[in-house]
Amino acid sequence: MKKIEKDIKCRCCGKTYQAQVIASRFIPDTYLDGKPLSDRDIPELYICPECHYAAVDAVGGEIDADAKSVVGGDEYQRLITSDSHVDRYKAALMSADENSERYILQGLCWSYEAAGDDKAAAETRRRLAKVIAGDIGTAPKIDDILLYVECMRRLGEFAEAGETLESISEEMEKAKGDYVYKIYSFEAALVRRGDSEQHLSSEVPAYED
Ligand SMILES: [Zn+2]
Repeated sequence: MKKIEKDIKCRCCGKTYQAQVIASRFIPDTYLDGKPLSDRDIPELYICPECHYAAVDAVGGEIDADAKSVVGGDEYQRLITSDSHVDRYKAALMSADENSERYILQGLCWSYEAAGDDKAAAETRRRLAKVIAGDIGTAPKIDDILLYVECMRRLGEFAEAGETLESISEEMEKAKGDYVYKIYSFEAALVRRGDSEQHLSSEVPAYED
């Protein structure tokens, strides 16, 4: 994994600081929801050394006054300075805006799984699914619909996952032969057999309808 130093301008206090960002990365495989194979590769947040605002990337304008007051609060400061990945993601979620919320919920869910807290991971995944459903409602994208299905499947909500797959079946028929169709039919097979376990992306090309 290649890392480079990059200047990040804090969206909360305006300080510019250097952070190690991943420049290029060969990812041989992930789980179907994009989770890295190793818990060590769960993305880190970029934390401002001055005010401790946690950013998920190097872009974005100034955050609003409400979010700034959250960052200045005791609870946020307690969580963001914790050694626990879960705590830091919880802090980041407190000050998240709608652009970063999805990414943070995903990271929090994976962090809970890495910590062995499956119940909290499921609650977070349910919250993530709700946000994705909202995005689908305003701008439907196949990738989002398949990620929503993956969330529902992992939650054991097979009826909802199956109905969602059914709703895109006509569109998917036109994509037959494409990689996205393979993901679609792999998800459909997992849903049919009531499988809520995590599966690898590398299982997709090997799967034959
Ligand atoms: Zn700052």
